[in-house]
Amino acid sequence: MAKADYYELLGVSREASADEIKKAYRKMAVKYHPDKNPGDAKAEETFKQVSEAYEVLKDADKRAAYDRYGHAAFEGGAGRSGGGGGGFGGGGFHDPFDIFREVFGGGGGGAGGIFEEFFGGGGGRGGRSGRDMRGADLRYDLEISLIDAVKGADREISYRTHIACDHCNGEGAEPGSSRKTCPTCGGAGRVISQRGFFQMQQTCPTCGGSGSIVEKPCSKCGGEGRLPKTKKVNIHIPAGIDTGFKLRSSGNGEAGLQGAPAGDLYIVIHVKEHEIFQRRGDDLFCEVPIKFTLAALGGTIEVPTLTSESGRAHLKIPAGTQNGTTFRLRGRGVPNLHTGNAGDQLVKVKIEVPKKLTQEQRDKLESFAIACGDAEEPVEKSFWEKVTRIFD
Ligand SMILES: [Zn+2]
Ligand SMILES: [Zn+2]
Repeated sequence: MAKADYYELLGVSREASADEIKKAYRKMAVKYHPDKNPGDAKAEETFKQVSEAYEVLKDADKRAAYDRYGHAAFEGGAGRSGGGGGGFGGGGFHDPFDIFREVFGGGGGGAGGIFEEFFGGGGGRGGRSGRDMRGADLRYDLEISLIDAVKGADREISYRTHIACDHCNGEGAEPGSSRKTCPTCGGAGRVISQRGFFQMQQTCPTCGGSGSIVEKPCSKCGGEGRLPKTKKVNIHIPAGIDTGFKLRSSGNGEAGLQGAPAGDLYIVIHVKEHEIFQRRGDDLFCEVPIKFTLAALGGTIEVPTLTSESGRAHLKIPAGTQNGTTFRLRGRGVPNLHTGNAGDQLVKVKIEVPKKLTQEQRDKLESFAIACGDAEEPVEKSFWEKVTRIFD
C-alpha cells in the first residue's frame, strides 16, 4: 500500500522548522484524537498516520533518513530474507551506516556499534557473485524486558556459526604444506569471460580472488579453514534501547573461508510488552487506580517505577484531582540513547468508586451528599448552563 508523504500528512513544507512541524502535529493530533472521535475509524487511522509522521519528522536523524530514502528508510522486513539487493553487504546497506556513524560519532569499528534498523531484508547478503570468501553476517533476534531496556543489561548469547579451524589456523592448508599459484587465473585472482559482445571481469571461481590455492587441504576442515561450532558472545545492551535497534558485534559473524575476514553479528532487539508500563518515546506511561476519597481530599500515594531500587516512588495527589489526570514524575522515564537524558514517568490516575457500601458508609455518604446539596442538584449547575447556551 502506498503511504502518504509525511510532510503532506502534517500539511507542512519540506523546509518546515522543527517548531512548525511540532505545531502542525499538535493541531492534527487534537483534531483526530480517538478520544474526540469515538468510533470514527477514519479519524483513528489519520491520527495514527499523523503520529507516525511526527515520530519521524521530529527526530533530526530520522528526518534526514526520510528525506533521503522516503518510507523505504523505515520499512522493517524482519521476516523477509535474501531477496536481492538490500541485504547486508548489498549496495543499500552502506548509506544507513553512514548515518549511524554521524549519529553516534565515529562508531570506531569496534564491537558493539548500535544503530536503528533502516532497511529490511535481514538475512543473507545480496548479490553474491562467484565465491565470496568473507564470512557471512549473522542476525540474532534477542528479546529483552522493558526493565533491561530502561537500565541496560549484559547478556551472553550463543548461536551456531563457523569459527576458524584451529588445526590450520583458518588458512585451509595442512600445516607444513604451502599454497601454490592458482592454475585457473595464474595468480591474478580475476578471470575474463566473454558474454556476447561484452568482456566481463570476474573474481576467479577457483581461488576466490586470492590468486593461490592450498596444495594439501587441511585434514580437519577439508580446506575450508573453518568449522561449525556453537559460539558464545557477551553483549552489552545500552540503556535506552528499543525494539528495532540493532547491535553490531564486529567479527562475530561467520568465519571467512581460508583466512578471509569474518562477518559481523547483528543483534536485533525486541522489547517485550510490560504488564504495567508502556513506553512512549523516552517516557514511561502507567495507569494507577486511586480511591475517590483520596482524589477529593488529596494525599500521597506510592506508584510503581522502573527506575528505583525499591520499584516504588511517591506521588502527591492534590485535593480535587479529577479522573484521568496525568501526573509527571520527572526523570523517571527511559534514558535517551543519544543524549542519556532520561524521559519522565507519566501516571494517569483512575478514580475508583466503591462497588459496595456498608450501612455506615452509606449513611455518611448520604449526609455528605446532603451537605453538598447533591440531592436537589444531582448534575452540576454549570453543565446545564452550558447546555442552555448551546440550544439558545
Ligand atoms: Zn583446517
Ligand atoms: Zn584463481
